[in-house]
Amino acid sequence: MSEVVLWQSILGEIELTVSRASFATWFKNTELLELNGSKAVVGVVNVFTKQQLQSKFNTQLLATFKKVGVPVTDISYTIHSRQPKRTFPNSGREQKAPFADTSDRPISPSLTSSTISRPPRNGGLNEKYTFETFIVGSSNELAFAASQAAARYPGTKCNPLFVYGGVGLGKTHLIQAVGNEIRHNQPDAKVLYISCETFVNDFLDHVRFKKKGFADRYRNVDVLIIDDMQFIAGKEKTQEEFFHTFNALHQENKQIIISSDKPPKSIPTLEERLRSRFEWGMSVDMQLPDFETRCAILETKASGHEVALERDTVEYIATNIQTNVRELEGALNKLLTYCEMSGNQPDVQTATGLLGNIKATRPHHVSAKQIIERTAKHFQLDAKDIMSPRRDKHIVVPRQIAMYLLRSELHLSFPRIANELGRKDHTTAIHSVEKIEKSMKLDSITRQQIASIRERIYG
Ligand code: ADP
Ligand code: MG
Repeated sequence: MSEVVLWQSILGEIELTVSRASFATWFKNTELLELNGSKAVVGVVNVFTKQQLQSKFNTQLLATFKKVGVPVTDISYTIHSRQPKRTFPNSGREQKAPFADTSDRPISPSLTSSTISRPPRNGGLNEKYTFETFIVGSSNELAFAASQAAARYPGTKCNPLFVYGGVGLGKTHLIQAVGNEIRHNQPDAKVLYISCETFVNDFLDHVRFKKKGFADRYRNVDVLIIDDMQFIAGKEKTQEEFFHTFNALHQENKQIIISSDKPPKSIPTLEERLRSRFEWGMSVDMQLPDFETRCAILETKASGHEVALERDTVEYIATNIQTNVRELEGALNKLLTYCEMSGNQPDVQTATGLLGNIKATRPHHVSAKQIIERTAKHFQLDAKDIMSPRRDKHIVVPRQIAMYLLRSELHLSFPRIANELGRKDHTTAIHSVEKIEKSMKLDSITRQQIASIRERIYG
């Protein structure tokens, strides 16, 4: 029996005994890499799967080996990435040893304290963003594979690497993981991660205040990672400068990594020559992770907080949050923080209580009448008072707040708002909403009042 066939039959057995989600999360992307007598080596995609299989499923796997007639007594788990499914366009250049010339490069004498600040020692990278902590599923596996290729063969395989996708889907995480991995493999490599906004601002400072060191800062690196490139849209001079930076780096086979919320062809007012360069290497998109991947992300993040969530809690959150990973993480953090403070268990009941609120904030559950009543009640008034023509101060402010809430929660038009409060003139509604908007910014009491009325409305 070949290893592939053997592993398939083992997985077939396992699939019958664990939940569908567990199987998809922990077993689907595994491989039997080696079978040597009684020793087996199983390849997994990340450290969490490794830990999980080791701690929770090892006995079961051993039993299953035995069941299918292979007497394995020792399984080791090793992290390995599956082969990228696509072949990457080769730049056609000779493959240089990456960064061979960087360690003895003199520090530019022009780089003094009066010049543009020197890149931070860690290259602007956040160490928590690694490949190991990135969960791979069908929505991001191509982006993941391309990023790994860029990390393994900087400047040659995917140059530039252009990663695009909606907000909160893991672009920053992934492109920083490339930088961290390269730094890990080549501690001397000069990696610089910046947001596009920083690049734009640096460039403006350079032009306005004649600050020196701009070109050096960006061209004397081995890896340049620029996040949120869409920010360069409409900024002609910066685009021109970036074009030169790009060429200088690319010519020397320095790795360039770019993220953006849309593909190069959809960034408005991006110069044609820059657009075509962005498309030279590899462009990959990222989508919202599917249900199984969302579950795996939640489990991983929870175990990072040393919390083991019950499967139904995980599935509850993954079902209810389908916007992006950042919100998924936000919901999890909310649950864990709440449980830590209140001493509750992070179970489905608690999650339903907390996340039910998130769902309830959708405006269509609430009527204008309810908003007016709850606002009145908060101020110990009657809805009738708020609807009356009376101009007493203790009524005017609650009335204004009610108008503000009708606008913010139900998005009613100003004439509608006036109408709901029994008024003919809608300009008062406009002024009231504006006034409360302003005091929301300046005055914490108003903020608290409105927060607690909102709680009443949705609670
Ligand atoms: P973007 O840059 O696309 O807006 P981020 O990279 O900031 O998104 O991701 C938002 C959060 O979600 C980060 O905390 C990141 O670690 C997390 N995240 C996104 N995708 C994944 C994933 N596949 N595995 C683990 N964490 C992820
Ligand atoms: Mg980002």
